[in-house]
Amino acid sequence: MVLHNYWDDKAHPLHEPEVPLIAVIFKDRANFEQYASQILGDGAAATHGFYSIQSNRMVLYDLTAAPNERPAYTDADILFKLRKSPFNVATVIHECTHQIAFNVGLHTRFADNPLWLTEGMATFFETPDLKSKTGWRTVGKPNPWRLRQFQDYARSRRPADSLQTLISSDQRFQDAETILDTYAEAWAFSYFLIKTKRRQYEEYLRLIAARQPLIWSTPAERIKDFQSVFGEDLNQLDQQFIRYMRQISR
Ligand SMILES: [Zn+2]
Repeated sequence: MVLHNYWDDKAHPLHEPEVPLIAVIFKDRANFEQYASQILGDGAAATHGFYSIQSNRMVLYDLTAAPNERPAYTDADILFKLRKSPFNVATVIHECTHQIAFNVGLHTRFADNPLWLTEGMATFFETPDLKSKTGWRTVGKPNPWRLRQFQDYARSRRPADSLQTLISSDQRFQDAETILDTYAEAWAFSYFLIKTKRRQYEEYLRLIAARQPLIWSTPAERIKDFQSVFGEDLNQLDQQFIRYMRQISR
């Protein structure tokens, strides 16, 4: 399991999931949307799948069943259809990463999980590689869609307090206007921390995973927790972050 290979260490072992992990897969988009809209409301129209912390289930639909197309019958057929839509494959891996991370001890369900952290983790792993048989050769490589989006954001509309608002609240993830930039920044920031400050990143993951369920942090508390691991000076960290992202995008 890729998450285990990546995060397990002797001093802080991950555990196996305590319950079987369930994925609900609808036969087509229409059936999925009907169900998803009851849970996500209007957000369902824009999504290809989700992981529910509440039910601990991953909910998807048959990605090979495009409207007016016959379903895939053979492995080769399935692979052919998947290769035509790498973004769909990324959705599956993304939601699967959430589900596994919440079940092996990387995150704690119902606790205060900053979205930049959980979404950063899922986007770190989502880069699909459909040329390789296992599909995982690209883990840890820059995520091309998120990188492009982040570059555009950083160049043209990233405010000076972007890091502060990302860390202190989940609000930017809830606004349709900012959501794509925010996912891209969550990916970029997590990528930067994992690549350049891995020890601290892991320490922060453990700090957040040790939180009690149903106790929500204020924005000030989120910043304080973050600074307790990564240091007080967010401006300096922001400069390092932007410099690093410029250099990997060349
Ligand atoms: Zn997600």
